Amino acid sequence: MAAALGGDTLTQVIVTHAHGDHSSGALAVRSRFPGVRFRKMPWPGRDEKWPVDWDPIAPGELIQAGDALLTAVHTPGHAPDHLCLWDGDTRVMYCGDLAQSGNTVWIPFDLRGDLADYLDSLARVIGMRPARLLPSHGPVIENPEPLLRRYIEHRQAREQQIVEVIQKGASTAEEITEIIYAALSEKMRPMAKQGVLSHLKKLERDGRARRDGEAWHIMGA
Ligand SMILES: [Zn+2]
Repeated sequence: MAAALGGDTLTQVIVTHAHGDHSSGALAVRSRFPGVRFRKMPWPGRDEKWPVDWDPIAPGELIQAGDALLTAVHTPGHAPDHLCLWDGDTRVMYCGDLAQSGNTVWIPFDLRGDLADYLDSLARVIGMRPARLLPSHGPVIENPEPLLRRYIEHRQAREQQIVEVIQKGASTAEEITEIIYAALSEKMRPMAKQGVLSHLKKLERDGRARRDGEAWHIMGA
């Protein structure tokens, strides 16, 4: 990292969300650069896992980062504290885990992922008309609107598929996952189930599904 800085001092680190692959380096960075300021949107109960002084970012806050003036855009869904950073001059969005070229984004139910929030975040980012996304994983995404729209369509199709699978007799999240992700390895199933649970939670909130113990039912069916 020191080489990447080219002799400059590291003054601040902005973290997009408190998943381990984004936050867990904080202590190591602090020991190397003791004066550094760590900034993120708060996720109480989670941020303490990496005990540095997290300086909270508020939605819409303007943050000077080098020559750029970035706007904090709260984009929950993948994580409740998920943050994108918008450079209005260049129309570049530093988008964290909101999008990843060639991949869909995981919405982990047990880590307070929220599918309805994610869809709303995608729509808001599309509305900002970014020229380019710089994601945390994978290459730069040029002209991101088609990809972001595909994400929304993918979720709508998945939701419809889950509704149909329940209507055909599957009832628990496990059964639904086994049918939809039949081709997936056993090891990946728990992760897939987390995504299914996020869909079920959205369906429940939309009044389209209800839960009876572990069993799920589609309303009116
Ligand atoms: Zn993440």
